Amino acid sequence: MTCAVVAVQGAFIEQEERLAALGEEAFEVRQPVDLKRHFDRLVLPGGESTTQSKLLKETGLFDPLRAVILDGAPVLGVCAGLILLAQAVDGRGDLRRPTIAEPDRDSNPEQMGTLPVSVVRNGYGRQLGSFKTFAPFDGRGAIPMTFIRAPRIAQLCSEEIRILAEVGGMPVAVRYQSQLGVAFHPELDDDSFVLEYFLSM
Ligand code: GLN
Repeated sequence: MTCAVVAVQGAFIEQEERLAALGEEAFEVRQPVDLKRHFDRLVLPGGESTTQSKLLKETGLFDPLRAVILDGAPVLGVCAGLILLAQAVDGRGDLRRPTIAEPDRDSNPEQMGTLPVSVVRNGYGRQLGSFKTFAPFDGRGAIPMTFIRAPRIAQLCSEEIRILAEVGGMPVAVRYQSQLGVAFHPELDDDSFVLEYFLSM
């Protein structure tokens, strides 16, 4: 199977390496013509979401990528990638427990808005917001999770959202239809369970 990895900014090389190690073919998407190649799924890597959004707009990738996602191609959004998928960003969501509500800010043109969650950028604190922990993922025993200035998923905006992992009572991995969003960086730890889960979608 083949995975398209969006490669405008951020940790795309790490994703490609991990996918290759699992036997998945991966290629980089930098311009719209790259989307003409056949692929079975898509990765939006971690990095800096505002920069990524700007570059995706400048390269003309933003709308075609959004269309591919809405069309149902399995997509993994990691950290900044999760922010790009989210319906709302930096609203008032409760950072101690997720609220179940309509997004409290209108869908933002900076985001693809395909994943019905509201996230708060750098929701664990900007300076000390990087840490590693272990937590169960989709019923499997604890796996390592590395957070780097991660967003908090503060609102779940659809009953169809499945929480796959939680840390401190807050969701850190969610699935909605063919979209998987994780606040941590699965490519940075030895455990490949999250990527395997994605490849099985
Ligand atoms: N804090 C970054 C942002 O807001 C995301 C960090 C990451 O992808 N590790 O875009």
